Amino acid sequence: MGRALYAQATLTGQIGAVACEGIADVIEVVRGADQALDITVIDIKASRRNSVTFCVQIAVYARLLTDALARAAVPVASVRGAVMARAETESAAAPEPFDLALFADDVERLLTTPDADILRVLQRPFAVTDYHLSAKCDGCPYNALCFIDTAERHDLSMVPLLTATEKRALQREGLTHVRQLATLMDYGPRAMVPAPGREQDLARLSTRWPLGGRLPVLVQRARARPGARPPQHPLATRWPAARPGAACQNGVAARRSQHRGEALPPWLRLWLIT
Ligand code: SF4
Repeated sequence: MGRALYAQATLTGQIGAVACEGIADVIEVVRGADQALDITVIDIKASRRNSVTFCVQIAVYARLLTDALARAAVPVASVRGAVMARAETESAAAPEPFDLALFADDVERLLTTPDADILRVLQRPFAVTDYHLSAKCDGCPYNALCFIDTAERHDLSMVPLLTATEKRALQREGLTHVRQLATLMDYGPRAMVPAPGREQDLARLSTRWPLGGRLPVLVQRARARPGARPPQHPLATRWPAARPGAACQNGVAARRSQHRGEALPPWLRLWLIT
C-alpha cells in the first residue's frame, strides 16, 4: 500500500482518430492491498468556479491515463477527477472529486464519433477557422500566432473589450474588419452620428442583438485602433510620431500596466505590435 503524487504529468495517446496530449497538474495514485490503483486526476485552475470544460479536460486526461495503464496491464480499481482552485492549493482539505462517467459522452462526442467536433475543426481550412481573442489568451502558448494573425487581418478581435457575441453579430452583418466598424460613425457635436453613406448600415445593425445601443462605444473603440480609419489629412499619417506625448487611452493603460509590472491584456499587446 502507498500513495504517490505526480505533478505536471504528460499524458499522450490516441482517442478515436485523434492523437492527444495533455499535462495533468496533479495525479494522485493510491495503491491498495490488492495492488490495484485508486487514481484521482486533479487540475488546478485560476477560477474558483467549476465548469463543464474543466471536467471534460480532466476526463480526457483520465482516458489517456487509463488507456496507457491498460496497455501496460496495470490493475486499476477506480479513476476519479477533481478540480482545485489555485487559491485552495495551500489548504489541507482534499479536493471534492466528481464522477468521470458523467463526461464520457462528451469525450466521445468531441473525439470519436464520425462527426466529432474536434475532427470537424481539424478538417476545416485554416483560413476559415474562427476565433476571438480574450483574457483566456493570456496564458495560451499559441497566443503569438493568434495576435499576429489578428493584427495582419485587422480582425475585429483588435477592438478592445469586444465580446465574442458582439463580434459574431457584426460578422453576420458583413463587418469583419476594424476599419468597417470604425468608419460606421463620426463624432457629432454632442454624440456619435452616422457617417455619411452609412446610415442604412447603422440602422440595420442597431436592430441586431446585442449591438443596438452598444454601437457608439464599439465604434469609438475601433476608431482608437491605429490605422482603423483612412487618413483625413497628409499630416494625419504622421500624427503618432509628431505627437508622442499624445498617446490614446490604450497607450496610457499599457504604460500603467508595464509600470506596475502587470501582464498586458491581449488587446493592449495587439495595440503595441500594430
Ligand atoms: S491565443 Fe489563440 S489559440 Fe490561444 S486561446 Fe486565444 S484564440 Fe485560442
